[in-house]
Amino acid sequence: MSPSSPHRRLAGLDPGRLMAGGMMPGGEEVPPELPGIGIQRLLGRGGMGSVYLATQLGLGREVAVKVVAAGLAGDPLFLERLEREARTMARLRHPNLVTVHHFERLDSGGAAIVMEYVEGGTLRERIALHPDGLPLDEVLRLVREIGGALAAAHASGVVHRDMKPENVLIDGQGTARVTDFGLAVPVAPGTPRLTLTGAAVGTLDYMAPECFRESPPDVRSDVFALGVMLYEMLTGRVPRGSFDAPGVIRPEVPRALSLATMKALRPDPDERPADMAALLALLDGAGRGGIGRRKLLSLAGLGGLAAAAGYWKLSKPPQAVPPAVATGPGEWHDALAGADLSGGVISGTWQRQDSQVVTDDSVCILALEKEMPAAYEVRARFVRMSGEHSVAIFFSGEGGTASVDIDGWDRGVAGVQSIDGRDLRQGGGFKFTLENGRTYELAVEVRPERVRIRIDDREQALVPIAGRELGIVFPWAWDPVARPAALGIGSYESPTRFESVVWRELD
Ligand code: ADP
Ligand code: MG
Repeated sequence: MSPSSPHRRLAGLDPGRLMAGGMMPGGEEVPPELPGIGIQRLLGRGGMGSVYLATQLGLGREVAVKVVAAGLAGDPLFLERLEREARTMARLRHPNLVTVHHFERLDSGGAAIVMEYVEGGTLRERIALHPDGLPLDEVLRLVREIGGALAAAHASGVVHRDMKPENVLIDGQGTARVTDFGLAVPVAPGTPRLTLTGAAVGTLDYMAPECFRESPPDVRSDVFALGVMLYEMLTGRVPRGSFDAPGVIRPEVPRALSLATMKALRPDPDERPADMAALLALLDGAGRGGIGRRKLLSLAGLGGLAAAAGYWKLSKPPQAVPPAVATGPGEWHDALAGADLSGGVISGTWQRQDSQVVTDDSVCILALEKEMPAAYEVRARFVRMSGEHSVAIFFSGEGGTASVDIDGWDRGVAGVQSIDGRDLRQGGGFKFTLENGRTYELAVEVRPERVRIRIDDREQALVPIAGRELGIVFPWAWDPVARPAALGIGSYESPTRFESVVWRELD
């Protein structure tokens, strides 16, 4: 795939860039008002929250205040999540964990965590300063510190589930301090979970393969994530697809350290170190002896590029819309019936077959509606007949257009594509591989503050937009001025039959 091909644009997943975007200052957020706390400035932003530097006036000390991002603050789900995060962190005590002082519901309706301020930036920033890897002794120290903090969390029955360099802070002494327990869950089964049923959570690069399946929380997912971070600290690269052992990329990496890293990254959790202690034990004594340039190991990555054998399946007679369950306020509108196959085609070849429309194996985009309400739900029933790339719904939001892409990007990955013009993976992506010949129903709920994605009635992702603009997804194909469209469908080199596309307004 050439870098200039359209699919490259579909690909382009880069959590680093996304995080950089997420942490940009600005936005329409109003700093929180808390009694006895003087807010100074914004420190950073992640998927859920904004963190401010503040002074605790009574004690004259600096603190960090985390609030739910604007736009999500009205949602009880996110407030509960923040409260749970505060409680989880308050329960844990370890020199490499950030200490929480206080949690408070705000008069404004939001909530805030007051915690210790960690002044040295994030591990992400530290890694960025060393594009070819951090000094080896620092890597070993940091991974032990982070691993120690996680081991303490695990011992208290908590899996972090969102380990990545953005969630490791560096204090004034250069010591790692793990934070952001916003996605953490109890290890023990049977405890109520705050995440949406079946939703994969975390950030794709750091998510173990089992996180894409509905598997119970397991400490070995944190082992995997720490393995990714270790790999990154050693090489400056994120292990994706098929990758070389760190010792191959950087010969001075001791063999035992290189092997331990690869073991933590095994796709099968049973082949990884069983817990943090086991990983740390492997790292002890991993201080000596490089492996030279000999290629040691390479690993087929998470996605596994299994070529999808294309076939036609003459299945299911055309079905009448709308879908069986119609709950909620608006009436269902049939967008496919009104589709204009001459004027509405933005790219590719589209054909009508009875009440359905079918794409060919080029890049196909079809505009369906020119105007949509502020909040609506779209349901598309489709069959990808052959090919191995994405099927998508395009929609407009505040100020721009975005798409929910299924089985696109690096293949097998799905989600909302961009917000603020940035490729969106964090919070927006999930793992989903389409089986050719099978009928799927994609349901997308678009609201100014968030997009909710379901496939076959199973929750896949809830993507906060939080007042930011949805990015224009296909500048090369879809000029929103020349061809205004608020709702569309498409497929990429994957002939697809859209059986029905319906939408209704939400209140
Ligand atoms: P989210 O749940 O939205 O990802 P985080 O808790 O990860 O929020 O915080 C987002 C960012 O804010 C972090 O990546 C970091 O840059 C900054 N930050 C968070 N907590 C602190 C803290 N205690 N001290 C200094 N900076 C912090
Ligand atoms: Mg974070």
